[in-house]
Amino acid sequence: MKHGAILITGGAGYIGSHVALQLRARAERVVALDDLSRGFRQAVLDVPLVVGNVGDRDTVRAALDAHGVDTVMHFAACTVVPESVGDPLKYYLNNTCATRSLLQCCLEGEVRHFVFSSTAAVYGIPAAGVAAEDTPTSPINPYGSSKLMSEWMLAAVAEASPLRYVSLRYFNVAGSDSGGRIGQATPNATLLIKVACEAAVGKRAEVAIFGTDYPTPDGTGVRDYIHVEDLAAAHLDALQYLRAGGGSTTLNVGYGHGYSVRQVLASVERVSGKPLKVREEPRRPGDPPALVARAERIRRELRWKPRLNDLDTIVRTGLAWEERLLRNPW
Ligand code: UDP
Repeated sequence: MKHGAILITGGAGYIGSHVALQLRARAERVVALDDLSRGFRQAVLDVPLVVGNVGDRDTVRAALDAHGVDTVMHFAACTVVPESVGDPLKYYLNNTCATRSLLQCCLEGEVRHFVFSSTAAVYGIPAAGVAAEDTPTSPINPYGSSKLMSEWMLAAVAEASPLRYVSLRYFNVAGSDSGGRIGQATPNATLLIKVACEAAVGKRAEVAIFGTDYPTPDGTGVRDYIHVEDLAAAHLDALQYLRAGGGSTTLNVGYGHGYSVRQVLASVERVSGKPLKVREEPRRPGDPPALVARAERIRRELRWKPRLNDLDTIVRTGLAWEERLLRNPW
C-alpha cells in the first residue's frame, strides 16, 4: 500500500532532524516545517523544507495539500523548563495554541496519523521519582502544562474523528547522530549533557550543578537520559504501529534507569579524559528532584528496542558533535 508523506514540524530542530534522517533512510517521503527560530537549515539535509510557523494555518494547510501528507509528527515547540517558568505565555502560545491550530489543519486536511512530542514533565514530581504512563499527571512548570494540554486536545480530537495518535513522553534526550552529520546546535544551550560537553571541549569555562540538596543518593537531580537515535527510532516504530491500525496511545520513552548530575559529569570527564570545572549553585526553579521512566509499555506496544542504552555512549556522541561544531560551526 502506498503511504502519504510525513510532515515533520520542527524538522530543522534537534529531535525532528534526527527523525527525518531515519525516515529518509527508509525511503519515506518527508517534508519539514520549521520557522528557523531555533532550528537550523543545515540540519534538514535532503528533505524539502517549508519555512513557516506551525501556528500559521495557511502555511500548514498548503504544506499538507502540496505534499499529500497523511501523517504529522509534531516536534515544533519551546522546551526549556526554566524559561517556561519566567515566560509562561510564550509556552502556552507556541506549544498549546500552536498545537490546537495544527490539529485543526489536520482535521481539515484529513491527516490520519499523528505522533506527538510530549514530555515527562507532565508528571511533575512522581512518587519515588518514577513515572509510569498511568501515574497521575501533575506538571510543576508551564512547559509541562503546555504539553499536557496538547495531549488532552489530541485525545479529544481522536475521539471525535478518524485521526489516531501516539503521544511520546520523552525523558531526557541527549547525544547526536552517530554518523556525525547532525546534532544539537542550540546557542546558549541549557540541557545538562550538552552543557557539560561544551565545557569539555572548551566552549564554556565551567558547569553549574543546580541543587546539591535534593533527596537523591548524591543530592543532585536524577534523570533518565536517552540517546536521540533511540528516541528517533521510537517515532518510526510509532508510524509502523499506526499504519498497522494500532489504537491511539500514550507512551513513555526512556530507558528506565536514572543518573544524577554528578554521575553525568563523571561520565563526561571519563569519556573526554579531562576534568571539568564545576560550580555548585542553588536549585533551579521548576526542576523535580528525580524523574525516571517506567518504560515497559513502549517495548510491548511498539516493539521498540533501544540500541544505545549506555550513558558513556550518549556522552561520546555528544562530545564528538561538539568537537565537530568547533571545527565547523553551524
Ligand atoms: N542541570 C545542572 N546544570 C546544568 C543543566 C542542568 O545541574 O547546567 C541539572 C538540572 O537541574 C536537572 C538535570 O541537570 O536536575 C537535567 O536538566 P536538563 O536541563 O538537562 O533537563 P530537564 O530535566 O530540565 O528537562
